[in-house]
Amino acid sequence: MILDGKAVSQTVLERVRSGVERLRARTGAVPTLAVVLVGEFAPSKIYVANKKKAADAVGIASQDHLYPGGLSRDELLKLLRSLNDDPGVHGILLQLPLPEGMNEDEAIAAISPEKDVDGFHPVNLGNLLAGKPSMVACTPAGCLEILDHYKAELRGAEAVVIGRSRIVGKPLAQLLLARHATVTMCHTRTRDLAAHTRRADILCVAAGRARVVTGDMVKPGAWVIDVGINRMPDGKLAGDVDFASVEKVAHAVTPVPGGVGPMTIAMLLQNTLTAAERQLS
Ligand code: NAD
Repeated sequence: MILDGKAVSQTVLERVRSGVERLRARTGAVPTLAVVLVGEFAPSKIYVANKKKAADAVGIASQDHLYPGGLSRDELLKLLRSLNDDPGVHGILLQLPLPEGMNEDEAIAAISPEKDVDGFHPVNLGNLLAGKPSMVACTPAGCLEILDHYKAELRGAEAVVIGRSRIVGKPLAQLLLARHATVTMCHTRTRDLAAHTRRADILCVAAGRARVVTGDMVKPGAWVIDVGINRMPDGKLAGDVDFASVEKVAHAVTPVPGGVGPMTIAMLLQNTLTAAERQLS
């Protein structure tokens, strides 16, 4: 089975659209996302444009704070503080990477955790670990949404996550653990990767290495979630999973493109709605 992230993201966006309407009818407020972009990193401009377009389509307002010429550390912290204090702003999206020399950790920590729709703030990471309500990072949240949409059984399942980044691997492992999976995390120092992946009922791959998982590494009947997005020399996109060989063994697998990718923006908008609902309740 091919897990159609594009279709699942449409379901999420539809849910967000009706949530926005309900909130608007109840409070008169329009959920608003402040978008902060510092510097001139070309891919970031495209990401930001896509996010704003998607927000608009579900009735979420976006506010531009674009500084192509850069901002000083103090100016950025001041801007983030003013957005934190603005009751008309419910979510703050600080597009990464920041220009070289700027401290991303400091900037992320300056965002109010309630408005941290990317789920990168240490308080939100801590709440996730503690099993408390938090803003969950969009890509891992999107992986769970796909598994839930297709009704994968997570309770008691052997789940293996490849990759331990702060934005994907670690939060994803916590989400699976919270759903009662038995979770193994693999990374570059893992001795025998295939020995772990072959045990996995749920295999999530966020290594950032094209086709690092092949069919012989997958347990027959497994669910495989491919987070990777790798630009190949021929210009095409490839996942971290070798789709052709894995598809023959797995019960279900996400394609690249059209799998986890479209989920990330949908979950960002879901987080923005959730943030607005919490702030307006
Ligand atoms: P990262 O480079 O920060 O982390 C990669 C992790 O994988 C590291 O923890 C590393 O130890 C591990 N790893 C690398 N090679 C490995 C190997 N051969 N065996 C085992 N472990 C290995 O990357 P990231 O930010 O977590 O992103 C991972 C991938 O997901 C990238 O391809 C990225 O483009 C993609 N991504 C996609 C989305 C999306 O919207 N779909 C969002 C974020 C990231």
